[in-house]
Amino acid sequence: MRLTVEPRDLTHYPFLKDSQEFLAARGIKIRDFTASTIGRKYLDAAIDRIVCAIDGKEIYPESQDVVADIATYVLARVLVSCVKDRNLIERLVRMEARRVYFYIHDEENEKLKNHVCETLGITFDLEKISVIKYVELTSTIREPKWRLINRDVDDGLVTISDDEQDILLRERIKFFFDSQLPLTIPLSVEHELMPWCDKITATLQERTFADFGVIDESAYPPCIQALIAGAAAGVNLSHSGRFATTTFLNNISMTPTQIVGVFARSPDFNPDMTLYQVDQITTHEYTTPACQTMLTHGICVNRDHLCDKITHPLNYYRSKKKLLERKHLRDEAKTLASSEKNISEKLK
Ligand code: SF4
Repeated sequence: MRLTVEPRDLTHYPFLKDSQEFLAARGIKIRDFTASTIGRKYLDAAIDRIVCAIDGKEIYPESQDVVADIATYVLARVLVSCVKDRNLIERLVRMEARRVYFYIHDEENEKLKNHVCETLGITFDLEKISVIKYVELTSTIREPKWRLINRDVDDGLVTISDDEQDILLRERIKFFFDSQLPLTIPLSVEHELMPWCDKITATLQERTFADFGVIDESAYPPCIQALIAGAAAGVNLSHSGRFATTTFLNNISMTPTQIVGVFARSPDFNPDMTLYQVDQITTHEYTTPACQTMLTHGICVNRDHLCDKITHPLNYYRSKKKLLERKHLRDEAKTLASSEKNISEKLK
């Protein structure tokens, strides 16, 4: 017999088919949202949900209104799909995955837990899993200890510790959400949702600016400095070098035209073609590759002591900027103190 999921549980697991059926049974359709007051209220609440994700919140606070909680989950996914910003999608995926992990981990209703895990495509509490399933579940994990060659395999089964089951569950939930986005949204719906999408884009830009502030070239990580120096010296950058430079400069809020200027001295520089390529990357809002990927492509160069503390060039930039700002404040305080000393000595 099919399990009946309580409405409150649907807000914890809004991706279940039961949630869609719950909305459908009440005659709620996405297309109707912009046309009604309550629908527009849900759209505004969906923006709040997305802003929580942009701000890196661990979890989105639920209301007492089951329909609203399920609707904001659905609408948030629709809206980020319309905005088409990979970074934004990743943030929403991260938040939703953490939220679901939180509930499923402490779920006391075993039948419900199994039902949710079945939808996610994972079996909970399994000490051994088949090699095929293991490869599927670990495909997004990069640590060497997860490579099949480093595991105990017996009779086609891989042994998994309790801690590892937890990690697999987290990864599976994240993969589940990640693989579904962006959704394919009809152009007419995209058009109707444009005012809400514009609000999200504006918030994202505002937060990016607040995050990185005014561009400070002296805080660029060594790898990016080397790539820019190479471009300025007329070296033809590799595809990965161009991609890393463009995404980095875009992520710290440089405009496409300014980015094109960085490549202007490349031997094969073609302004239109370069602008087109830069636009392709900036429109999709790709994030700068992590240090590990930069290393793989041979463009992690001139590492310094700060590189030992970070795993991403953007984190390097953020930390270095803070260090430079603190140094600048200290220098200013020293200058002020010394000029005050000079004045008081002259007055003696
Ligand atoms: S460690 Fe990271 S930030 Fe440092 S040079 Fe390498 S890629 Fe750049």
